Amino acid sequence: MRVLLVEDEALLARTIALGLRAEGFVVETAADGRTGLDLGLTGGFDVVILDIMLPLLNGYNVLRELRAADVWTPIIMLTAKDGEYDQTDAFDFGADDYLTKPFSFVVLIARLRALARRGSPARPTVLVSGELSLDPARRLVTKRGEVITLTPREYGVLEFLMQHPDQVSTKDEILSGVWDANYEGGENVVEVYIGYLRRKIDVPFGTKTIHTARGFGYQLLAESP
Ligand code: CA
Repeated sequence: MRVLLVEDEALLARTIALGLRAEGFVVETAADGRTGLDLGLTGGFDVVILDIMLPLLNGYNVLRELRAADVWTPIIMLTAKDGEYDQTDAFDFGADDYLTKPFSFVVLIARLRALARRGSPARPTVLVSGELSLDPARRLVTKRGEVITLTPREYGVLEFLMQHPDQVSTKDEILSGVWDANYEGGENVVEVYIGYLRRKIDVPFGTKTIHTARGFGYQLLAESP
């Protein structure tokens, strides 16, 4: 099994690489994001282990560029608990799994084997609702051909609604589908994000596609012509 390890902490990279080789993995390493991306783009790996904070190009950008280039190698991200990012952002950005540093080597091996068994995910299909389209592979949202820039969380809420077309999703369903299980804030955050989305996907276009089913939740409908 071929593993690409993108990690800039030299000692940690060497330790992981040695350990993986001892387990029979073939390991190539990259100490910065740019080199990691170039190697990853060859598509010649079964799994990529990707650190987030990297010189030249951070892990999220490496991940995004790989997916944008249609490279679907499973990726496990290494996150630091005290990092500037929420760990679950790794999933928001399309990683297949993540491990928080410091992690146990045994756990890393188990996760790698599980990911390799699962194989490369298929390219997800583009979701369409009327004039609105969402391409999960490129994390690209457009309406009438115009690109709409969303934050990862806004994107998550929209993707959830588009995955459940024409049905009313309760705040609770949206919350558990989009937010981390450990999220302890109230359901009102869903309302807030629905508001942000409306300002981006409806207001500028003079449409009304996100409907409120009072007391129940929200529903995305294709606008009538
Ligand atoms: Ca790092």
